[in-house]
Amino acid sequence: MCLVKLKVTNTLTGKKEYFEPLIPGFVRMYVCGPTPYDHTHIGHARTYIVFDLVRRYLEYLGYTVFHVMNITDIDDKIIRRAKELGVDWRDVPEKYTREFIDVLVKLNIKMPHVMPKVTEHIDDIIEFIQDLIRKGYAYESHGSVYFEVDKFPEYGKLSKRRVSEEWRQEEEFLREKKKPYDFALWKKAKPGEPWWNSPWGPGRPGWHIECSVMSSKYLGPQFDIHGGGQDLIFPHHENEIAQSEARFGITPWVKYWLHVGYLTIKGEKMSKSLGNIIPVYEVLEKYKPEVLRLYLLSSYYRSPMDFTWEGLEHTKTLFNRLVKVVDGSKKILLDEKPPHKLSSTIRAHVNKIVKLKRMFFESLSDDFNMAKAMPYLHELISFSMKKLDSEPSYALALTIYSALKELNEVLGVLDKYFYGAKEVEEKLRRIVEAVVSVRHEFRMKKQYDVSDKIRDALAKVGVKLYDFKDRTTWVIEY
Ligand SMILES: [Zn+2]
Repeated sequence: MCLVKLKVTNTLTGKKEYFEPLIPGFVRMYVCGPTPYDHTHIGHARTYIVFDLVRRYLEYLGYTVFHVMNITDIDDKIIRRAKELGVDWRDVPEKYTREFIDVLVKLNIKMPHVMPKVTEHIDDIIEFIQDLIRKGYAYESHGSVYFEVDKFPEYGKLSKRRVSEEWRQEEEFLREKKKPYDFALWKKAKPGEPWWNSPWGPGRPGWHIECSVMSSKYLGPQFDIHGGGQDLIFPHHENEIAQSEARFGITPWVKYWLHVGYLTIKGEKMSKSLGNIIPVYEVLEKYKPEVLRLYLLSSYYRSPMDFTWEGLEHTKTLFNRLVKVVDGSKKILLDEKPPHKLSSTIRAHVNKIVKLKRMFFESLSDDFNMAKAMPYLHELISFSMKKLDSEPSYALALTIYSALKELNEVLGVLDKYFYGAKEVEEKLRRIVEAVVSVRHEFRMKKQYDVSDKIRDALAKVGVKLYDFKDRTTWVIEY
């Protein structure tokens, strides 16, 4: 357990603050999820690994974390991509959401408790917009609905920008809007694009409204942590604040805003035009998911991180050393006659390990600063390797083994090595797989009464299913 109080840097106040959730012991966290129109790349992976670290560390401190992440399954980019590929627009989010979930599972990212999709919340979105119109914050124009920024004087408080005519949101609709910086809540349907019925005619939701709607639906009108990549601060998160505070009249809508720095390649932002995007699957062809996870975890989340293959290679060495220490300590613990004598030297070693572990966690209490924590991990590993070899002792092996097990609660890269009984686990996975595939056959034959029964039965034992058109992914919830 860590005795230092957790501090987090809050983008809203620009300060490092003591963390105190609105409901003691219970943390509500919303993270902006992906727009699945292309492969999940390592920049996305960094963001979601960072929020996994945040969640795991809060859980380590004893908090219950209720974690919601949206899936933007309708968006300009999706429509554009479908046109490029010449497929039905629904096939695009279907395919890439599946890939995204596979990546989360491989990288051992704890699954959010709720992953709402926009297309399943159209009615909630319409209701939210209607309320904003009723309260005088939004107006209809040419079949679209816009948020009137001038009606919300606090606009700009997150990104520290002042309202100016220079900013233009959704430029193509300038003539429809009262001010160039007003932004769309509902977009009138264009010919050939997907649409839903609404009081303002056929159309679809703007991007920003979904997060205000889905976060409040699952977490209530005020919650603790809202996170995402740094590029979302403006205008996305700024717009989310305007929509939510306007509707609910609660300030601040979110207590702590956490933003992850950019992941760059040779100092440059990843972009299609530079052709330097690295998809996660490409890295996983060369490195274990544990190595990529540990690498992306190892920097301070608010700082930019420059991705290098050499960096990954160094992390691979560190990971192998970690495994070696776990195996080495396990071997001594399982030895028939390990030396049990607790000499003063061994006592000093035990002390040192306990202290390094404490320093590691204390660094995390300083705004989840992994860059500060990593040197303690390195030292712990080097020291353990040396001492396990030269002075094997039961007490020392036990200390090292439990220290790493504790560290792994946040690192999440050594699960396989701690939670043995691998064969049993493997067999269980195969059994679940068999049940899921039989259910799939029922689903395909549209025998939903049976397939729903199987889904519910699996849910009761902690197996959660994610249905896609032609297949089902599953995860075991802990
Ligand atoms: Zn969002």
